[in-house]
Amino acid sequence: MDFELSDRAKDFRERLLEFMDEHVYPAEPVHIEQVRSAETPHVYPPIMDELKAEAQRRGLWNMFLPDPEHGPGLSVLEYAPLAEIMGRTTIAPEACNCSAPDTGNMEVLYEFGSEEQKERWLRPLLDGEIRSGFAMTEPDVASSDATNVGMSIERDGDELVLNGRKWWTSGTMHPNCRILIVMGKTDPDAHAYAQQSMVLVPLDTPGVEVVRNLPVFGYDDPEGHAEIEFTDVRVAADNLIAQPGAGFLIAQARLGPGRIHHCMRAIGAAERALELMCARADARETFGKPVSARSNIRDWIAEARIELEMARLFVLKTAWLVDTVGGKNARIEVAGIKVAVPNVALKIIDRAIQVHGGAGVSDDTPLAFMWAHMRTLRIADGPDEVHKLSIARRELRRQRGEEEPLV
Ligand SMILES: Cc1cc2nc3c(=O)[nH]c(=O)nc-3n(C[C@H](O)[C@H](O)[C@H](O)COP(=O)(O)OP(=O)(O)OC[C@H]3O[C@@H](n4cnc5c(N)ncnc54)[C@H](O)[C@@H]3O)c2cc1C
Repeated sequence: MDFELSDRAKDFRERLLEFMDEHVYPAEPVHIEQVRSAETPHVYPPIMDELKAEAQRRGLWNMFLPDPEHGPGLSVLEYAPLAEIMGRTTIAPEACNCSAPDTGNMEVLYEFGSEEQKERWLRPLLDGEIRSGFAMTEPDVASSDATNVGMSIERDGDELVLNGRKWWTSGTMHPNCRILIVMGKTDPDAHAYAQQSMVLVPLDTPGVEVVRNLPVFGYDDPEGHAEIEFTDVRVAADNLIAQPGAGFLIAQARLGPGRIHHCMRAIGAAERALELMCARADARETFGKPVSARSNIRDWIAEARIELEMARLFVLKTAWLVDTVGGKNARIEVAGIKVAVPNVALKIIDRAIQVHGGAGVSDDTPLAFMWAHMRTLRIADGPDEVHKLSIARRELRRQRGEEEPLV
């Protein structure tokens, strides 16, 4: 393993750091103010257009996609440190057109979409003109076992008819959201892993009703997480992505790089929390000594540094594996980082909050929002328990010398 950044990746890193200092950090309070002063939390603040234009001008656009035709064509390993830098704020990923769930949706369309689907949906997503959602989870079933997903997708002549209810479809409330990738059952009698398919559903299709937004620990994210009812929703059969029954295979492919991106952004957030923790501990004095002189606080700082270094190396190793042997052969690592990193980051943010006292739970620092967001990562994209189950299964098979199944 060689984690030395390529010259190209170093160049991107330098330029991204400059962009963060010159534009993104100064835009943070402006963004907060523009969102707060709007009538609804689901707004597209004007500052975002300015940031996007500047990111495009600097070539810091679509850095996640490993294809030189549509962006710089960086490998996953080259992109990982850039995701870490962007993860230090909530606004940088969108400013650089590198935010979830669009990145995963673009990857799906790029890898599995027809030429027509690419032209109609991938092109405007890559240009940052529209945003998208990924609708898999359902309120009525335990969706961490995706075989439970029950949305019905029936063929009727040249059309597909969708019926069912989804929730936690992130991105739907964003004013620019236009398209959903919906997972559902096209063949309930097939093998458990061949029942599901993915279909493109424009948000304005008759029968698609956004029932409500789901807040996260009371926060209403601008892009939101929607509960959506689908009643006799008709789309052209050509809206199916790849072949019927390919839903699981596409979901697996979508989640590999996506989890690396999430984890590197989480490391970026935790690094920022650690910086805030150290600065606050140095600045405050109790009982005649700075808080940073207390041994328990030093222990927290040291532990944070140790755990962040371990977490980063684990993610970089996983990125390197995805680049060299493919996500299919790195499933233990992909699941492993998804458990390890949010837990490490959460602990660091929690301690940073503690060191800030009352200020830590207010919105005077980004820590409270960071904590709420990070806490969801232990559930979103699969809860910790399910990733551990899959690691243990594979480890046992490996130890017993058994073959890995295809899905
Ligand atoms: C902020 C946020 C954003 C999200 N964005 C999206 C999105 O864009 N698109 C989308 O489709 N979904 C999204 N989700 C949904 C998320 O992926 C699901 O919530 C998650 O997969 C768990 O499914 P569930 O909520 O149905 O929980 P359930 O499946 O009901 O599981 C509940 C709990 O049961 C336990 N459990 C489950 N299985 C096991 C096991 N085998 N062993 C031990 N314990 C177990 C775990 O503790 C788990 O947390 C998002 C969720 C959040 C919170």
